[in-house]
Amino acid sequence: MITPVLPTYNRAPIAFVKGEGSWLTAEDGSRYLDLGAGIAVNALGHAHPALVAALTAQAQKLWHVSNLYRIPEQEKLAEMLVDKTFADTVFFTNSGTEAAELAIKMARKYHYDRDMKDRIEIIAFEGAFHGRSTGAIAAAGSEKMVKGFGPLMPGFKQLKWGDHDAIRAAITTRTCAVIIEPVQGEGGIRVVPDQCLKGLRDLCDETGTLLIFDEVQCGVGRTGKLFAHEWAGVTPDIMMVAKGIGGGFPLGAVLATEDAASGMVAGTHGSTYGGNPLGCAVGSAVMQIVADDAFLDEVSRKAAQFRQGLEGLVASHPTVFEAVRGQGLILGLKCKASNLDVVKAAYAEHLLTVPAADNVLRLLPALNIPEADIAEALARLDRTAARIEAA
Ligand SMILES: *Cc1c(COP(=O)(O)O)cnc(C)c1O
Repeated sequence: MITPVLPTYNRAPIAFVKGEGSWLTAEDGSRYLDLGAGIAVNALGHAHPALVAALTAQAQKLWHVSNLYRIPEQEKLAEMLVDKTFADTVFFTNSGTEAAELAIKMARKYHYDRDMKDRIEIIAFEGAFHGRSTGAIAAAGSEKMVKGFGPLMPGFKQLKWGDHDAIRAAITTRTCAVIIEPVQGEGGIRVVPDQCLKGLRDLCDETGTLLIFDEVQCGVGRTGKLFAHEWAGVTPDIMMVAKGIGGGFPLGAVLATEDAASGMVAGTHGSTYGGNPLGCAVGSAVMQIVADDAFLDEVSRKAAQFRQGLEGLVASHPTVFEAVRGQGLILGLKCKASNLDVVKAAYAEHLLTVPAADNVLRLLPALNIPEADIAEALARLDRTAARIEAA
């Protein structure tokens, strides 16, 4: 018999009732060390005092008014994002997949308005993940996500990941945009080399193609820069953000240059909840902490400590782990054993990790995870590996 909750997830039989920092308390009172952070969402851990304060203060004042009116909290967060990034303008959504929808619409409208109505094709990459809306699954195109849901939205093409020559060959007079995650999350924590992002930017400039970065998972401080593409020194025309920006409150955004966004005039897009006062109050509190050089340097320092420990685990458990991947605190352990078995064994050590494609174990701790918790996580991963070896 079907469960009251639509069974689209293979859930672990654990339920949490409370969170604090990098720790979660289960119904039975036992504590788990959280290296998943709600899949890179709880950027500042659970129940961060500044976020709780921002949320409750706003909750006392005003929850929702609709975008029929000016929303000062939204304007404030938009200004912060514009101030700190390549972008000139921001649209707020409630999720990453809604950001994908707008990014696609914005890119197509850009060429439409310039009398290039054939430029509708969007190039994406194998292993990409852009969300679960019909547009976002058409973009990523993986068999697992699209099977049974056709006909898919036309106008998408997927290329092999990391093949620059294939991109050059694929861009035609019908190409509208290229969409790419600077660090692939679901695809297995694959970092696009700086050289590739630079090459892609050049190619897009040469051909008048818009470049869309999906930083839903790798953005908002996760790599040790506010946004991952900053490492490569290139900027996109359009960028999708979500997950970490709300610190746990459902919030997403599309950032764009004035030029890329020029077609999105009044009436072309909207959202009932997007950018509501509650979400934006929390988003501003997140930005206030994360968009700070000292904070981001700390992320890099902790990431180096964590990574060094992980390299040690690869060396000491060669039949379980194969290599460390990632950048900053978006890390992956490429496994020799089944990554799903490792996730399960980690539950037994009260450690939360997340599987990804390519047999990778994803590690996405809170950006402010204390050093002691990193050491504890490494000890638990060590015992997790020992469980696999003993099995
Ligand atoms: C999670 C994710 C999305 C989708 O975000 P939702 O909020 O789940 O809709 C899109 N792109 C990337 C890179 C993601 O990691």
